[in-house]
Amino acid sequence: MKGSMKLITIKGIIVYLHFTFLVFLAWMIGVFIFSGMQWMQLVWSLLFLLAVFACIVLHEYGHALVASDLGINAKKITLYPIGGIASIEKLPENSRQELLISIAGPFVSFCLAALLLLFSPQKLSFQSFTEMDGTLNATNFLYTLAIVNISLGVFNLIPAFPMDGGRILRALLALRYNYIKATAIAASVGKVIALLLIVAGLLSLNFVLALVGVFIIVFARSEESYLQLKTLVKGLRLKDVLLYDYNNIEADLGVREAANMLQSDQGKYFIVMHDGLPVGTLNRMEVMKAVSGQEYDKTVGDLMKENLIHLEGEMLVEEVLDQFSGNEERIYPVFDKERFLGVVSFQHIIEYLLINKASLEYNKARSLAELV
Ligand SMILES: [Zn+2]
Repeated sequence: MKGSMKLITIKGIIVYLHFTFLVFLAWMIGVFIFSGMQWMQLVWSLLFLLAVFACIVLHEYGHALVASDLGINAKKITLYPIGGIASIEKLPENSRQELLISIAGPFVSFCLAALLLLFSPQKLSFQSFTEMDGTLNATNFLYTLAIVNISLGVFNLIPAFPMDGGRILRALLALRYNYIKATAIAASVGKVIALLLIVAGLLSLNFVLALVGVFIIVFARSEESYLQLKTLVKGLRLKDVLLYDYNNIEADLGVREAANMLQSDQGKYFIVMHDGLPVGTLNRMEVMKAVSGQEYDKTVGDLMKENLIHLEGEMLVEEVLDQFSGNEERIYPVFDKERFLGVVSFQHIIEYLLINKASLEYNKARSLAELV
């Protein structure tokens, strides 16, 4: 996902922070400081924020671990201000799987709440709930964290994408309708709920609520086009979408020769070859930069990115699609064991779908192009 930074890797799953999350964190710290908070209170509040984020990560691990238990690899978890998103490698095969994966997160949140309440000196009651005033101390820390986990669980059950409730709703609808139709209905329900949140938020001057509504609308859209794309590539293998006509360039070519070569070739990305095998990719901008910096002693090999992921022709497109998006024009070499077959790119896969899936309605095709 664009605009995210790597935080930590646990059990092979990378946790990313989306930049809006950092903005949110900075904003909260600013609010704490400018509200004239005592330093003890500031420490408690920061500790609390960190604890909440840890609980969100655990919630996402709930989804991810159930998914891998069902044979679907989870690769990353991205944290946003209103929660996290666990990205899984491919679509769950049936609605039962999707249901289990979606429910796992809120289930973890409710379990965490129960566990925290068990160790909390303060017990759950209507009175203690109404007495919460936002000040934190050793007595109410676990209690407040438990309340947050309950809210997280409930909030995520709202039937709107990207909340788990949206997926649960889709899984239930998919028992009756096909997957695309189920997604469309669930996305529409989500949009209605989002609009209600925006209106309610504006009327009550609760702007966070309104922002959540906006967030949901944006996500409902991207979930829909993402799903359409994933459904369209289902069963397609990399060897089916190979491109044989690509630009390549030799690794030991000097910057001057490379620049000359680029003048007659308008390609943006090049496969860098050495001894007949691809060793990296080169963006033409890198060569231009080297030329303007007069770095003539460098070779293509120095400028290239050694960022090749090993792709096999037999791999399913849907398993690698996530790694492609975000940079549609970049090309990736594909192999059959050690043999170099050809290249693939996100853009080319979209073109392939447009040409070969003739039954595709034009509008659907257009929304695919919007998926960046
Ligand atoms: Zn969740």
